[in-house]
Amino acid sequence: MMDTTQLVSFVREHFNTNQFIPLHEPRFRGNEKKYVAETIDSTFVSSVGAFVDQFENRMQDITGAAKSVAVVNGTASLQVALRLAGVKKDEEVLTQALTFIATANAIVYNNAIPVFLDVDLDTMGLSPKAVENFLEEFGELREDGCYNKSTGRRIAACMPMHTFGFPVHLDGLMAVCNKWKIPLVEDAAESLGSFYKGKHTGTIGLISGFSFNGNKVVTSGGGGAIVTNDVELGIQAKYLTTTAKRPHPYEFFHDELGYNFRMPNLNAALACAQLESLNGFLEDKRILANKYAEFFKDSGIKFKQETAYTKANYWLMCVELKNKAEREEFLKNTNDQSIMTRPIWNLMYRLPMYANCQRDAQANAEFLEERIVNIPSSAR
Ligand SMILES: *Cc1c(COP(=O)(O)O)cnc(C)c1O
Repeated sequence: MMDTTQLVSFVREHFNTNQFIPLHEPRFRGNEKKYVAETIDSTFVSSVGAFVDQFENRMQDITGAAKSVAVVNGTASLQVALRLAGVKKDEEVLTQALTFIATANAIVYNNAIPVFLDVDLDTMGLSPKAVENFLEEFGELREDGCYNKSTGRRIAACMPMHTFGFPVHLDGLMAVCNKWKIPLVEDAAESLGSFYKGKHTGTIGLISGFSFNGNKVVTSGGGGAIVTNDVELGIQAKYLTTTAKRPHPYEFFHDELGYNFRMPNLNAALACAQLESLNGFLEDKRILANKYAEFFKDSGIKFKQETAYTKANYWLMCVELKNKAEREEFLKNTNDQSIMTRPIWNLMYRLPMYANCQRDAQANAEFLEERIVNIPSSAR
């Protein structure tokens, strides 16, 4: 049996508790209660209010992007980001199978079809080489973009996901996407506070989506943000997510099929307070990541660390076990001792609705699927 006794003691000592230790829990130590109470006192608890505007401005400051739009959750942010990138019915989006379900669902909500390509072993995110290989084999440039020769469908976007906050190889992806005239849409749901060559994730492609769900680095209870450097797209994002209503003091006229994807002011209040604490959370998580790295050194278990040119937020930290049998033992031993650990997601094509999607060989994704386990990662 694999001995996880030392790990259990290490984690218990770090979090200073003998109780159950979850993977990731939110911390509310700043202005959360104050701001939420302010929204109630103001009566502006719903779809408009000062905190919504403040949240959008703060996200622009943090990411350095020209435009940020608050929305109801991360999935909705991706759905609308894809639509604004030009994804339409029966078109295809290149993405990774090693991801959370929302990435693929956001594609299908646009009536488009995911194509699953392999990830890199170091970043665990979409591999530029895999995208390049796929397009060399199946891509065809036409007047209105890139087509998949094997299906006859237009490839309308490429959507990598920054797994657990580790940035993908964005330069490589941008290069191959530019060559094939495919817009890059970043699923940055997990990567608030992660940077690639000094630029915040989600600001390198055309447009991106972030999540503020309860398990993310910071939370608004539920929420999301669309982020883009294209001001016109940002304006469109605000418009589409607020029912596509023509501005008018009292008339209701809607130009097209929009969405009610607004983030309530109550949630934005929580998010604003959380964003004030973001840097503290990130520093605290990095301390734990450094301790884990030291702990797992020479243990035969690999602690995943940020790659060159990147700064990861260490949202969910993870280890790579030697094989599936060791992974099972590790999961059992830790969970039996009330230290929550969890395997990485099942690959999307294991799920019934995505079983028949086109995909490449997936050697790296399947390698990681059998070995990666998340370990407790909360800020203290
Ligand atoms: C959390 C997450 C989302 C969006 O999540 P919501 O719960 O809708 O806010 C999207 N993609 C990935 C990879 C995620 O981890």
